[in-house]
Amino acid sequence: MHTIAITPTRPAIVLWFRHDLRLHDHEALTVALQDEAAVVLVYCVDPRHYAALNLGVPKTGAFRARFLLESLADLRASCQARGGDLVVRVGEPERVLPELAATVGARSVYCHRDAAPEEASVERAVAQSLRRIGVAMRTFAGHTLVHADDLPFAVEALPDTFSQYRNRVERRVDIRVPLPTPQSLSLFAVDAGELPTIGSLGLIEPTSDVRELFRFRGGETAGRDRLQVWMWDADRLRTYKTTRNGLLLTDDSSKLSPWLAHGCLSPRLVYAEVRRYERERVRNADTDWLVFELLWRDYFRLVLERWGARLFAAGGLNGLPYPWRRLGDGGVRDDFDRWTTGQTGFPLVDAAMIELAATGYTSNRARQNVASFLTRVLGIDWRLGAAWFESLLVDYDVASNWGNWAYVSGVGNDARGFRFFNVLKQAREYDPNGDFARHWLSARDGNDPLPMVDLFAAADASALTYERAVAKLPAAQGVVTRR
Ligand code: FAD
Repeated sequence: MHTIAITPTRPAIVLWFRHDLRLHDHEALTVALQDEAAVVLVYCVDPRHYAALNLGVPKTGAFRARFLLESLADLRASCQARGGDLVVRVGEPERVLPELAATVGARSVYCHRDAAPEEASVERAVAQSLRRIGVAMRTFAGHTLVHADDLPFAVEALPDTFSQYRNRVERRVDIRVPLPTPQSLSLFAVDAGELPTIGSLGLIEPTSDVRELFRFRGGETAGRDRLQVWMWDADRLRTYKTTRNGLLLTDDSSKLSPWLAHGCLSPRLVYAEVRRYERERVRNADTDWLVFELLWRDYFRLVLERWGARLFAAGGLNGLPYPWRRLGDGGVRDDFDRWTTGQTGFPLVDAAMIELAATGYTSNRARQNVASFLTRVLGIDWRLGAAWFESLLVDYDVASNWGNWAYVSGVGNDARGFRFFNVLKQAREYDPNGDFARHWLSARDGNDPLPMVDLFAAADASALTYERAVAKLPAAQGVVTRR
């Protein structure tokens, strides 16, 4: 138990950590400390995040839970090194935070706000329960590269396509410099609480797979290490654009996503390092491309903020009446299970799904292919795939996951584009020697299952169905593109 002396002469502020598990570039924390209050730092392990989805898998699977617990342990150590501590409670924030605020005599709770509907509704419930005891809640924008206050348009006027969005922000916005890490924190006479274990969350500790090439370790310290190793020591930013579509090798892309998703790294810190790299090493299309991807990340957050719950509808943002096959329909459960277990008979898809199940990660190119396969080839409701990813991904981020799924499925922003990834052609292009497939499918010894569908017949049927669905939309302007 960690108990410490309170400083009763100063008014307290409770700082509620959410997807921002870091001390650097933390606006809510910085402002709380500037307000000259003693700050009580807390994280609530919300049991709702570990409930089962209707697919029968937990909303947060073991890989992400492990990463989160490691991140909390690291954050606690960093707080302790600065004279403070991290209070950890298992419970709903709307119950935990008023209790804690009352215990420490806090006058307000600060946090970074989250636009996702579930998170926003928890935030409203917290604000309401705090109001009842006379405690204020103050929220900040802390997740994006471009600060929300610097956007050159209101969220309601978010450009429809990423390119338009990017042009506008690149021309008009200066990215803010990351805020410094505080040097000292205060201690309170509160039981800091033990961190839960994976088992206490109802999950089974992941076993390490011999094929795993990179183990993601949670926490700000490990995130900074990864940034240092990939960008500077291995010097991989200079070739990022060329290698980022690689399927197998760890350093082909930055692998920063879990740290960004949990907020262990601020995108502005990554940006600042890119600009420093450009000054000290090289500036080229590859260095620019990492910023481009961080802008995609921002864009999906804005799409979610702009459209809210519509992003989770079967027809997506435009209500496209695509007749998805649903879980209760004949044969869908079997087809879905073949997809999740890597038994489709298409090596690129199978290898990626096996990698995902074994590690909680697969590359962007692989994600695009498996998502396209589920939705375009099998015609299965894209939301089942997104929910499967939600459970498994170590880097799950509600906006990036559901936004990318909707996009690949032709129901997102920039909809009305039929996207079909020909998994055979993609394998020839991105896995020309079959290294990725061999690595993840080695146990099969060449005995691959037979292809579960006729790829081209399925894709043609899907294209036709898609065009018909688009034609039902008002002012339809279907664009058919194939990659
Ligand atoms: P890098 O190529 O090194 O990119 C650097 C950073 O830019 C990433 O860490 C990420 O934060 C951001 N980024 C890159 N590509 C995208 C993208 N397409 N959309 C949004 N941000 C991007 N990313 C998540 O962080 N969480 C998710 O839940 C998620 N789900 C996805 C689901 C599908 C179906 C698809 C197609 C993509 C998804 N992505 C998601 C985006 C992307 O696949 C991952 O961010 C990327 O693979 C992470 O590896 P990396 O850090 O090496 O990426």
